[in-house]
Amino acid sequence: AKHQGRNRYAFYSGEMTAKVTRRLNLEIALRHALQRNEFVNHYQPIFDLRSERMIGVEVLLRWQPPGKALQAPTALVPVLEETGLIRQVTRQLFMEAAQTLLGLGERAAPLYASLNLSAREFLSGDIVAAFREVLASSGLPGHRLVVEITESLLMERTPGVAKALQGLRDLGIRIAVDDFGTGYSSLGYLRELPIDILKIDRAFLEGVPDNHGDKALVTAIIAMAHSLGMRVVAEGVESIEQEAFLRKLDCDAVQGYRYGKPVPAGALDTLLPPPGRP
Ligand code: C2E
Ligand code: CA
Ligand code: CA
Ligand code: CA
Repeated sequence: AKHQGRNRYAFYSGEMTAKVTRRLNLEIALRHALQRNEFVNHYQPIFDLRSERMIGVEVLLRWQPPGKALQAPTALVPVLEETGLIRQVTRQLFMEAAQTLLGLGERAAPLYASLNLSAREFLSGDIVAAFREVLASSGLPGHRLVVEITESLLMERTPGVAKALQGLRDLGIRIAVDDFGTGYSSLGYLRELPIDILKIDRAFLEGVPDNHGDKALVTAIIAMAHSLGMRVVAEGVESIEQEAFLRKLDCDAVQGYRYGKPVPAGALDTLLPPPGRP
């Protein structure tokens, strides 16, 4: 048994070393990526359900290592957060998003950019000052930005959060709660904090139209948001049945593969209405 135990220890330890090594290599690669400007924005359109017009784009991080496949953000964001690199990466990203919107000109004038901000990032440093700087140096008006935050941040209940949210709002920036409904949180914060938009998580839309529980939840979220004066964006809309259901509930806006996958800045132009037709 002793012998076996030692083997097992060696096995786990080897496994852990491999994990730490992988993680370390990723961290080194991400530092290089930042220096070499390998992080890029992709943009996914958000449509108003009533007018059927594009009203905004969500800005989604991608990493393009030279000669390799484009990397999705899910595995990257936690490492970027732990290393503190997220700050520089998102500053670059936000500046680029602001310049992209302005570069599209008049036809894109009603569009807003919706930016993801992790809780850790939000709580570290002066986020309001950072956004003031993005707006000032890009020239983008604040009403063309939405900041997406997660429920876990709102559960912090530190006075700093409420103050920072109000500070962003004072710049004209709107606040969205991302992945709403996944945080198992108390809902009290919804009436205490300045929130403009609820984004319903894709997981709930997956159960529409077959799952009664999911349908009941989506119905309740939309009704509650409207009664609190908030707008609702449904995420991950893929089918016509989901869209029909959301229309019936008077959902405000939709985002999902049914309307468009995230695309590079260069492809945004083709999503805009043709020139001369407002
Ligand atoms: P999220 O904020 O919930 O973003 C929506 C994700 O759902 C995106 O994945 C998008 O490509 C995907 N999606 C949109 N429509 C559909 C659909 O109809 N079907 C399916 N199956 N998926 C859909 P992506 O781009 O891989 O991003 C994953 C997550 O990474 C984001 O989830 C967000 O939490 C995080 N993330 C992305 N960019 C940033 C960033 O700049 N900063 C931070 N802190 N997090 C980011
Ligand atoms: Ca988001
Ligand atoms: Ca989301
Ligand atoms: Ca999500």
